[in-house]
Amino acid sequence: MMGGHHAASGAAAWVAVTASTPIALGWYPVSDVGVMTGALVCAGAALLPDADHHSGTIAHSLPPISEGVTRVVAAVSGGHRAGTHSLLGVVVFAAIAWVAGLVSVPTERFGELLVGPGIMAVLLVAFALRALRLTRKGTVWPWLSSVGLAVLVAAFAPEEWYWMPFCVGLGCLVHLLGDLLTTRGVPLLWPVRIRSPRWVRRRALVLDDLWTPRGNVSVPLLGDAGSWREWVVMTPVSLYAVVGVGWAALQQMGFDVTGAWQRLAGW
Ligand SMILES: [Zn+2]
Repeated sequence: MMGGHHAASGAAAWVAVTASTPIALGWYPVSDVGVMTGALVCAGAALLPDADHHSGTIAHSLPPISEGVTRVVAAVSGGHRAGTHSLLGVVVFAAIAWVAGLVSVPTERFGELLVGPGIMAVLLVAFALRALRLTRKGTVWPWLSSVGLAVLVAAFAPEEWYWMPFCVGLGCLVHLLGDLLTTRGVPLLWPVRIRSPRWVRRRALVLDDLWTPRGNVSVPLLGDAGSWREWVVMTPVSLYAVVGVGWAALQQMGFDVTGAWQRLAGW
């Protein structure tokens, strides 16, 4: 799946799970500020599994930090589409976010400053902005925009980052789902890799698509990455994320969007 689509699916999943509006599920309710900022962070987290590639879009998103991060991730996870695209990878990324949550600095002015989650947010927001083509390579904008957002949250809503581990886990899971729906599939059980037996390959059964010769699992409903089918599915998903974030923003500004919606629905 394409980077921009991964980012959009992360934002959409966050809105669906955390917003308490009639168009969302509200399973893990957060504030309106949490819905807005989390959507951007989750969009970035949904790109994290592809940080195993040091020449990809992600690597250039926040130079020189992002290059360093992608090199380390690639070395630890066994290369592209290996460890980071497994359930174990999701758990490890969420655990890193949880540990980062323990890193804080007490200040007189702002109380406990959550430095660890703040740094993670800067990186993930930079991933998201780059994949959504909102920043360009090699400019100061990636730094200004992502650091600016993290500082804003730290100053006005310092309690927000508590959802970081959940947000990172959700984003990574959504990434796996996105790649699972394309023909290449994902090594869900990595480091265990069970190659399909030869009789499956020889007879070219449906099973041959679901269980690739390399041992990846795939449900290729979207075909190859970047296909027209991917666009057909991902365009409404992206729109949903935009509407969900806009809804939270209007509510935060004091507009009773949910009330208006209910009055319309009651008609
Ligand atoms: Zn991927």
